[in-house]
Amino acid sequence: MNEERSRSWEVVVVGSVNADLVVGVERRPAPGETVLGSDLATLPGGKGANQAVAAARLGGRVGIVGRIGDDGHGELLRGALAADGVDLAHLTVTEGAPSGVALITIGPDGDNSIIVSPGANARLAPEDIAAAADMIGRASVVSFQLEVPLPAVEAAARAAAEAGARVVLNLSPPAPVPDELLGRCDPLVVNEHEAAYLLGGARESAAETAAALVRSGARSVVVTLGAEGVVVADGEGASAVPSPKAEAVDTTGAGDAFTAALCLRLARGDSLRDAARYATRAGAAAVRKKGAQSSYPTPDELPDPPG
Ligand code: ATP
Repeated sequence: MNEERSRSWEVVVVGSVNADLVVGVERRPAPGETVLGSDLATLPGGKGANQAVAAARLGGRVGIVGRIGDDGHGELLRGALAADGVDLAHLTVTEGAPSGVALITIGPDGDNSIIVSPGANARLAPEDIAAAADMIGRASVVSFQLEVPLPAVEAAARAAAEAGARVVLNLSPPAPVPDELLGRCDPLVVNEHEAAYLLGGARESAAETAAALVRSGARSVVVTLGAEGVVVADGEGASAVPSPKAEAVDTTGAGDAFTAALCLRLARGDSLRDAARYATRAGAAAVRKKGAQSSYPTPDELPDPPG
């Protein structure tokens, strides 16, 4: 079988699948207090599912390795992934466990407070990775975040690297990264807050931040800077990639849209810089609409690159 045919999936995401339960509030309750909020919105989310949907909506052949609960949320989450054509052969239903849930309150200024209950996501284990070895081994790019247990991430990254797939790790939420895993990241994708966590403090500039992360062991690095775009770095040096301008309505999930588009273009053979240039357009598109998955673009909805 030639390389083109043997790589059946452009992007396989190993990660979380959550139901986002969102309520608008005038103010948050103090301990012991009750406040009334807006109607509840129940939306598909989780960083893994967001990235899978974003890459699939851009036309990618995408699979996901994850866990949902045997509850009503699980059905909703499966349906959302299926609607965008994500391969669900390794999305496992966990008997007796609830699906992951993010309890989100939105304040009057659009500020959000979030409690994540991992539920079934916390059960993702190296055994799940072994069961999905065929999918992981036939991916061009395997993408990770840290909303699922580290042993599963480490096992999947090892399997991906051994099969010749490219490993992309989005360090969200921030957590310590073992050296072996860091050394597989090509790239490590972080925002400035996550980068400072990993480096034990902020650097003078994003370029210095990215260079320091390469020195600390990542094969390449992308530092995302919101409206400013990103800085990419590898052993050859660091360079800035601007983002298209966008009227920001809701930035939720912009980082996931960016990372998904980056993975897809890397799978299609782009250089890191070219892939990042494309991915800033997906990130910018995602801030123009409300929600996470609901804001993700199709290829013809991408804004033009900055001039
Ligand atoms: P989040 O965790 O909120 O999803 P993040 O901190 O991981 O996001 P950001 O740096 O906020 O990631 O955004 C990722 C990319 O999305 C940016 O590099 C940029 O290309 C695009 N982006 C984000 N915010 C804006 C904005 N206000 N205007 C234009 N592009 C934006």
